[in-house]
Amino acid sequence: MRIVLTGGRVFDGTGAPAGDADVSFEDDRIVDVGPGLDGDESVDVTGATLLPGLFDCHVHLAERYEDFDELLVMHRPFSYRFFTIAENLRRTLALGITTVRDAAGADLGLKRAVEDGILEGPRMRISVNALSMTGGHSDAWLPSGGLSVWNVSYPGMPDAVCDGVEGVALKVREMVRAGADVIKISSTGGFLSPFDDPAKPHYSQEEVDAIVAAAADLGRWVMSHAHGVEGIKRAVRAGARSIEHGTYLDREGAEMMLERSTWLVPTLTAGDTTEALAEDPKIPEPVREKLRELGRPELDAFRIAAEAGVKVAMGTDCPVAPHGTNLRELVLMAENGFTPQQALVAATSSAAELMGLQDELGTLEPGKRADVVVVDGDALVFEKLPQRIRTVYKDGVRVID
Ligand SMILES: [Zn+2]
Repeated sequence: MRIVLTGGRVFDGTGAPAGDADVSFEDDRIVDVGPGLDGDESVDVTGATLLPGLFDCHVHLAERYEDFDELLVMHRPFSYRFFTIAENLRRTLALGITTVRDAAGADLGLKRAVEDGILEGPRMRISVNALSMTGGHSDAWLPSGGLSVWNVSYPGMPDAVCDGVEGVALKVREMVRAGADVIKISSTGGFLSPFDDPAKPHYSQEEVDAIVAAAADLGRWVMSHAHGVEGIKRAVRAGARSIEHGTYLDREGAEMMLERSTWLVPTLTAGDTTEALAEDPKIPEPVREKLRELGRPELDAFRIAAEAGVKVAMGTDCPVAPHGTNLRELVLMAENGFTPQQALVAATSSAAELMGLQDELGTLEPGKRADVVVVDGDALVFEKLPQRIRTVYKDGVRVID
C-alpha cells in the first residue's frame, strides 16, 4: 500500500531550502518526493513541514534524570531501571527522533527488543559501556570502600575500566562481543563522575591509538567523550570518528578536527541542567563543586567549531537534561553560530553520515527508509517545536500520532 503525504512543505535534510512537495512511501521505503504524487491512501498535511526522521547521536536511553539521585537508586530493586526505559524510548520517538547512537547504558537486549517490536522506540546503534581508565569517568570506585550504583556491571554490560595498550584492546573486544556497534571511550575526565577532572587528558596517546586500532580491526568506529583540549587532541590524532562534548575546544583543536575530518557531537543540551544539578543536595558534593562555577563554555566551543567549519552531528547527552528535551539542541545550535537549516542538517543527513547510515536514512529521497516527521507550521522555526510534532513515521509505520 502506497501512502502519500500531500500539501505540505518538505525539508529534505540535504540543506536545500524547504519547498512545496508531496512524499510517498510504500512498506518501509520512500517511493517519491515531488509535486502531485499518487497513492492508495492520501494524508493531507497542508500547513505542515515534512522532515526526515531526526537523529540523536549521543543519548543514554537506559538512564533517567531522576537516577542522578544515587541514594534513591541504591535502595531501589536492581531491575527497576529496566522498566523505566520504555518511557525514555517513547519520549524520544515522540520528538521525531527515529534513530539514536547510545553513548553507554543501552545493552544488546534493549536494542534487540526494539528491533523485534517488543518495545517501541528509535532504532539504535549502541556502545554498551564507555571505556575509561582507572579513576576515570566510568570508574565506580568510592572512597568509602563501596562501589557506585551508577556503574554496576551485569551480564551483557561489561565493566568498562581498562588501562594499558593490551588492557584497552581486550576491553574493546569485550564490548564488541557484548554487542557494541561503536566503541565509546573517555579521553578526559567528566563532570558527573566525582573524582576526575574534565580538563585533564585520560589515557596516554598510545592507549587511545590502541583503542582505535583494535576497534578498526573489528569494523568499529570510536566516539570519544572529551572536554579538555589535550584529551580532544589525543582522540583526534588517534583517528577517533567523533569528539563528544568538546567543551573546551580551542581554535587549534578545531583545525586538527578539520584536517582529520573528525566529527563534533556538541551535546549543548546537557548544559541546561548544570545550575540545577549544582544546587541539588542529592548530587554528590564533588560533582556539585565541579558544576558550580562551570557556566556554559561548551557554547563558546561550539561557536569556534561552527566558524572553523568542523563537521557537526546532533547529540544531546539526555538524560543529563531529561529525556524529551532533546530538541533544545536545535535551539542552542541556532543561537550559537548555526543557521536553523544547518542545525536541522546536523540532526538529519550529517548525523546519518556520522553513523554510516547515509545510504538508508538522513534525507527524504526515493529508496531511503520511510522515516518521516510531520511538523505543524514551519519546522525551521524552533519555538515550541516539540509541541508541533504531529505525526512520526518510522520505516513507513505511524509510531506517533
Ligand atoms: Zn553522555
